[in-house]
Formats: sequence, structure tokens, C-alpha cells
Amino acid sequence: MTAAPKPRHIPERTCVACRRKRPQPEFVRVTRTVEGWRVLAGNRTGRGAYVCADSPACWAEKRLRRAFGASAPLVSADLQALNPAMNDTSTGQTMTS
Ligand SMILES: [Zn+2]
Repeated sequence: MTAAPKPRHIPERTCVACRRKRPQPEFVRVTRTVEGWRVLAGNRTGRGAYVCADSPACWAEKRLRRAFGASAPLVSADLQALNPAMNDTSTGQTMTS
């Protein structure tokens, strides 16, 4: 357990892809599940890893493999699906329900 609280109000995390240190809000959290690493919104239990939320270079499967192994393709797809910047929303493809 590494739950030692630091005196700073914004905790820093390290990106598993580029190893950059940044404030936690700038990351997407990847969670270790029984099925492997997945991007789970709101799930803060278990082991977590962090990937830059705004850096497509950090979402590449090749860069994630070191940290996530066999789960890298899934995590890469999850990250790209999550980020609206990677999707062209100007084509009239709207979410209707
Ligand atoms: Zn990064």
C-alpha cells in the first residue's frame, strides 16, 4: 500500500507511456481488473495506472505494452474511444436514443 498522504493538494502521477510527471487530473486512470487492464470511469478500487489524457502519442499500443502487457490493445482502444478529440463529430454522426 502506498497511501501515504502528501502535504500537496494536487497529487502527482507518472504516465506509464511517456514517464512524465503531471497533476492527477490530467491523466486517464487505467484500472487493473480480473480480466486485465481496462479504462473504467469512476472505478477507483484496485491497482491503477495513469496515462496522459491529452496526448495521443501515449495511447499507442506499442507504448502501453510495457505497462499493460497483453491488455495493451484493449487499453489503447479504450483511450482512443474515450477521447472526443480523436473522433470527428462534424459528420452528423450523432448519438440518438
Ligand atoms: Zn504520457
